[in-house]
Amino acid sequence: MNKIEKAVKKYLVERKWDNLRPADIAKSISIEAAELLELFQWQNLSLEEVRMNKEKVEEIKKELADVLIYAFDMAVLLGIDTEKIMQAKLDKIKKKYPAELMKKRKNDESEDTDAYWKIKKAYRMKGVN
Ligand SMILES: [Mg+2]
Repeated sequence: MNKIEKAVKKYLVERKWDNLRPADIAKSISIEAAELLELFQWQNLSLEEVRMNKEKVEEIKKELADVLIYAFDMAVLLGIDTEKIMQAKLDKIKKKYPAELMKKRKNDESEDTDAYWKIKKAYRMKGVN
């Protein structure tokens, strides 16, 4: 268990929240993700525009922390190694979306804008996420 997982476990145990139902945690992750999304309602700010907006960044930090805390609650209570599952998923994504192909896409969107979607569709056809 890494440092943050230990801290989350302690926080849950201290409050007797260590028997939360996974479905309730999943709902909470979704609710907090919606709160994060709400910060962008009717806006489509660029990365730079968000970075320049200190107030927005502070609001994002709070909602992102809420999402992460519930996600870690789920992992800790189910005995899931977060580093292991994230690394495994990153490895899978790296294989699925080769960096060279994605980089090319970014440099010339008109030509390769659908490279990502072609790959995604092919995986979906195979029933793989
Ligand atoms: Mg919140």
